[in-house]
Amino acid sequence: MKYKLILTAFLTAFLTVLPCNTTALASVYTGHLDSTSEECISGWAWDSENPSHAVNVQILVKNSSFSTVQELSATADLYYSHLSDAGIGTGKYGFSVSMNWSSLPDGFYFVEAYVAGTKLPNCLQVTKSGSSVSYTSGSSVRSLGVFQTTAYCPCYSCSEGWGRHTSTGAIASARHTIAVDPRVIPYGSRVMINGMVYTAEDRGGAVKGNHIDIFFDTHGETRQYGTQYTEVFLLQ
Ligand SMILES: [Zn+2]
Repeated sequence: MKYKLILTAFLTAFLTVLPCNTTALASVYTGHLDSTSEECISGWAWDSENPSHAVNVQILVKNSSFSTVQELSATADLYYSHLSDAGIGTGKYGFSVSMNWSSLPDGFYFVEAYVAGTKLPNCLQVTKSGSSVSYTSGSSVRSLGVFQTTAYCPCYSCSEGWGRHTSTGAIASARHTIAVDPRVIPYGSRVMINGMVYTAEDRGGAVKGNHIDIFFDTHGETRQYGTQYTEVFLLQ
């Protein structure tokens, strides 16, 4: 009797749950942000459990303070032969949406895309400078916390005769090179500081732990920069 009751309860629970599982397969959204030009953002997205349905993509353009500065949407229904060639359904999952980068101030931005609340795996990391828009496909923009940041230049007192030569062999350039403690930030990392993206390609005797030394062309600029404590972000 006791077992029969348990069995009945089990079957009731099973039958109650069953219709939910059979009426529709759960949606599985995926896709990719492919590129951006001065005028548009493109990529593709689909629901692999419902390949005949064109999904709606929401695209967020965020600035270096993580504020959304543009919100765009597109229906992913353009035919991309490289998708069908890769065995992705009918291949009619592309999107291309107008984006007016010239309306935004120069600086660093990143672009994310969502389908029904699911974030597509990659993001575009965009540097806008005048009429030029360049981008890298990445996975995330991650805070490394607050660092002490200082400045150096090719002069003898800053670089002790190294000039523009760095410890990695790269020739240092302004708005690009930073010196790091490679145990904290590996060489080659792209790091966003005060809305500008730099590459870790040098080190310095005094640069230890959560300290970054930023390369400038002239000693006057290093004096002007001084020492600043600021949150830094790793672009991955
Ligand atoms: Zn100097």
